[in-house]
Amino acid sequence: MAVTTTDWSDPVSCPFCGDDLASPGAGFVDHIHENEACEDEFTFWRENVSGDVAGEWSG
Ligand SMILES: [Zn+2]
Repeated sequence: MAVTTTDWSDPVSCPFCGDDLASPGAGFVDHIHENEACEDEFTFWRENVSGDVAGEWSG
């Protein structure tokens, strides 16, 4: 897994809704696929992170 700069050292629960995950990492992926609200939050979070890196997009 490519964990870089997040606070999620050991995500055994969903950081968005607090649900327990079946397993760290893979369980989270399954979880967001089953929970649209969490997937939206995760997508938004990822876009924020990558947005910091790709700073040239805004015109
Ligand atoms: Zn969740």
